[in-house]
Amino acid sequence: MTLKAQPIASHFIDGEYVEDTDGTVFESIYPATGEVIARLHAATPAIVEQAIASAKRAQPEWAAMSPTARGRILKRAADIMRERNRELSELETLDTGKPIQETIVADPTSGADSFEFFGGIAAAGLNGSYIPLGGDFAYTKRVPLGVCVGIGAWNYPQQIACWKGAPALVAGNAMVFKPSENTPLGALKIAEILIEAGLPKGLYNVIQGDRETGPLLINHPDVAKVSLTGSVPTGRKVAAAAAGNLKHVTMELGGKSPMIVFEDADIDSAIGGAMLGNFYSTGQVCSNGTRVFVNRKIKAEFLKRLKARTEAMLIGDPMDEATQVGPMASWAQREKVLSYIEKGKAEGATLVAGGGIPNNVSGEGYYVQPTVFADVTDDMTIAREEIFGPVMCVLDFDDEAEVIARANDTEFGLSGGVFTADLTRAHRVVDQLEAGTLWINTYNLCPVEIPFGGSKQSGFGRENSLAALEHYSELKTVYVGMGPVQAPY
Ligand code: NAD
Repeated sequence: MTLKAQPIASHFIDGEYVEDTDGTVFESIYPATGEVIARLHAATPAIVEQAIASAKRAQPEWAAMSPTARGRILKRAADIMRERNRELSELETLDTGKPIQETIVADPTSGADSFEFFGGIAAAGLNGSYIPLGGDFAYTKRVPLGVCVGIGAWNYPQQIACWKGAPALVAGNAMVFKPSENTPLGALKIAEILIEAGLPKGLYNVIQGDRETGPLLINHPDVAKVSLTGSVPTGRKVAAAAAGNLKHVTMELGGKSPMIVFEDADIDSAIGGAMLGNFYSTGQVCSNGTRVFVNRKIKAEFLKRLKARTEAMLIGDPMDEATQVGPMASWAQREKVLSYIEKGKAEGATLVAGGGIPNNVSGEGYYVQPTVFADVTDDMTIAREEIFGPVMCVLDFDDEAEVIARANDTEFGLSGGVFTADLTRAHRVVDQLEAGTLWINTYNLCPVEIPFGGSKQSGFGRENSLAALEHYSELKTVYVGMGPVQAPY
């Protein structure tokens, strides 16, 4: 039987598809139906070796090219991604179950933005500096790290493959990328497109695998850097392994971010922000504002309008352009989300909307209703742990100092947001929130121009913007003596 999204082979190394049937077989499942759409093999140690060796071979020549020439190839890749947006978006929907309504505007397009942005700033973003020292002087250059490893999560597989690949490549590195075992398909297409755009072979290799494969990459002596997008527990393991060999690391991890709605906020706008920041991608977004603190004075009105808008969301076939809510990416993730919903009910939160499996979808899909809990207190499990599903917790608050302290009372520090009409309050509050990325009167917008990343247990390092280049390169300092050496002996 032919499978709907079967790639030519499991891995993409040195410019071509490669298979090693000794690797453990795993299935790619379309989350909307439970149908097997591809069968792949996890990388064997031989495949890992082949991918890293090919990257190591290709990298020096690539690093010796001018940044403009490297950037030109990435910009071409961006154009190809845009031309194939429909095809790539459909693949992303098959890979993740996210509605085509979203993938068509948010996934390959955001990957293409990343190639375009880093391709465009290549020439200016990698300059060093000149340091006058009287007669002598010094200069710095930004040099690539070598072979970088990217490890992806399953919520934005194509975007993550590009967000890591674009800055790594433009800075003169090679990348070996391992997508999540839940979403193995998109990254292979990115690798194909880069070759079509003119990227020399070996510079962007994709290998498949899971938590067994990751360590083979991280512990490899020829790998200089690891960039992970994943959960905090995985981040701890990956950072510890990388530290053993003093490798560079970027950690894009989980969150339990606060969104604070003051009494003077535009309520409909704040509800829109809260819904986007909890239900987009069926809630599988790391920066989601899952703790929505609403001032008690507007709580009743906020909940009334939120309930009506949440219950009107269209859940269904992700390939139907009208669908707004698709399934969770995996069966296991749905089970996890449903168990958190049960914990919310058991711990005394008030269920406002959703709360289970929708009854308008038939079959084997991994659907969960967009769910809103009110009267959530800070100590409830649903307010403390990352659920990574469409579950919004609404908490009450009375004053500014109190809500800031409660918002910060978490091990995470990825994101946060404030809705208010008071300009000074907005800046005063975000200034005190402990998080890497904050929004005022909007939520979850992450264009490539702005740095993105976390603080506290949500990670370190930044993706996107000029800041990302710093994490894929290092400074080399050269001191130039202009006179004879004055030795005292
Ligand atoms: P996960 O941590 O289970 O897996 C992430 C990746 O790490 C996968 O590719 C997995 O195979 C690999 N992995 C697992 N154990 C490993 C190990 N010991 N060594 C090396 N690699 C290992 O995460 P997930 O369930 O795929 O994704 C959801 C999580 O990712 C959530 O916590 C979410 O918040 C986070 N996330 C963060 C961002 C961000 O930018 N901050 C973006 C998306 C998702």
